[in-house]
Parts: sequence; C-alpha cells; structure tokens
Amino acid sequence: MPFLNGEALTLRTYDLDEADKIVVFFTQRYGKIRAVAPGAKRTRSRFGSAFEPLTYLQLSVYEKEGAELGRVSHTDILYSPYTGGGHLYRTIYCSYFCELINEFTQARDANDHIFRLALATLQALDTQLDDEAMIPYAERLARYVEAWMLKLEGYWPSSAVCARCQANTGAEPVRFYLNSATVLCRRCSDKGGLAISSEAQAVIHDIFHQHPAEFAAEPLNSARIGEIEQITHRLIVHHLDRPLKSHAPIKQLIKGVKVSPWQPH
Ligand SMILES: [Zn+2]
Repeated sequence: MPFLNGEALTLRTYDLDEADKIVVFFTQRYGKIRAVAPGAKRTRSRFGSAFEPLTYLQLSVYEKEGAELGRVSHTDILYSPYTGGGHLYRTIYCSYFCELINEFTQARDANDHIFRLALATLQALDTQLDDEAMIPYAERLARYVEAWMLKLEGYWPSSAVCARCQANTGAEPVRFYLNSATVLCRRCSDKGGLAISSEAQAVIHDIFHQHPAEFAAEPLNSARIGEIEQITHRLIVHHLDRPLKSHAPIKQLIKGVKVSPWQPH
C-alpha cells in the first residue's frame, strides 16, 4: 500500500538537510511512524504549523517500495494546541507528553488506547488558565498521563491486593517495591520500598476513574501529587533506564511556583 492515511499526532522533528525535516508521528492506524517532510524547514512551508508537538492531523504519507522513509504528502490540521497564541506552559507540557508517548511506543505498533489518551490529554490542555493556575493543572495532568501510560504498557502495579498475602488493601497505606513491581500491605511490608499513603491511593483511584480534564481541575493536596510523582518518575526511569529528557528542565522552570516536594514517611 503506497499511501498511509489517517489521524496522527506530531511527536517531534529532526533536521534532515537545509530544506527538509524528518517528522515522527503517532498515528491511530499504524502506530509510530517516521517520514520526510519535504520543504518543512522553509519559512513558507505548505505544512504550516502541522509539525508542532502534539498537533492533531489528518495525515497522508507516501511510501515508495524499498525506500527507508516515506514522504509526507498532505497534512490537514484537525486541532492545534497553539491556536490563539502560544501559551508557554502549554507548549512545554505538549513537548513533555510527546516525549512520553515517543519513548513508550514502538514503531509500527498501533495502540488505540494510547492514541485516545493522547487526544483526551490534548483536550484537557485546551483551557484558558493564567500561569499560576496552569502550572498545578498541567502538573496534575502530567501525573495522570504518566500513570495511564505506565498502566497501558503493563508497568503499573496493582495496589488493590497485597502481592504476598493477597489481602485486599482497600484504602490502607501500602509499600511499593520497584524491582519486583509489587505492592505489599502494612503487615507484609518491611521498611524498604516506597510508602504510598491512603490519600495517595485515593488519588490513584481517581486517575483511573476520571477524565484527564476532570482530574486535572481538582485541586489536590500538592503533597499527594508529589507522592504520585515519586512513583511515576521511578517507574519511568526504571523502564527507560533514564529519566525523560524534558522532566528536569520542567521541574527547574516551575520550581518555587507550585508543589512542595514530597517527603518520605
Ligand atoms: Zn500482605
């Protein structure tokens, strides 16, 4: 089939030569693909802003038999998160979510759950908040997306049942052991692992039962969100063998503006 057609999200671009770029897309039908966008580096490119991070597109890519990379033949922007002026924090978090999707998905491996998660995230980012409100909102959204991405890829441990005694943990505090990816109840756990408070358990429950915009709009205790971040960040580093590149710069940028760091119990 020479043409790949369908809905896609732009994840990132690389410079190929003086006029062209290589663009990485997460498509609904084909999963992650890379293609050359001819002339995309020119000021008056026919693709306009289609290759900004997390832009939602109708995409056509022409694939010539035997060629390593296809060529973008047409883009139609369905939704751009930058319409109506770029918001600094929206731009930053769009790039962060793109890196997350890029790192956790494989080439040519379609995943409709992740595609729908990305679209719902894009929808949640379409909000008119000032910077002060936007940062905690986007941080809550980031924890939501991280937890869901880990869950969809099978890395999120079930905290509903103790891995050793099989007791229902309910709302009681538990401890999470990263290397074995297990959660133990208070009776079975030792001092190792990471403590997850009952309040954090409730937040995790909300993440997996609410729409991202609904979850992000809920003003939670910042310590609880910090606690969730301890879990998601450690799981991400564990599975990628390194942190996401955009994680530390975001933390640096928003330092002092939002959540206080979580302290171990
Ligand atoms: Zn137990």
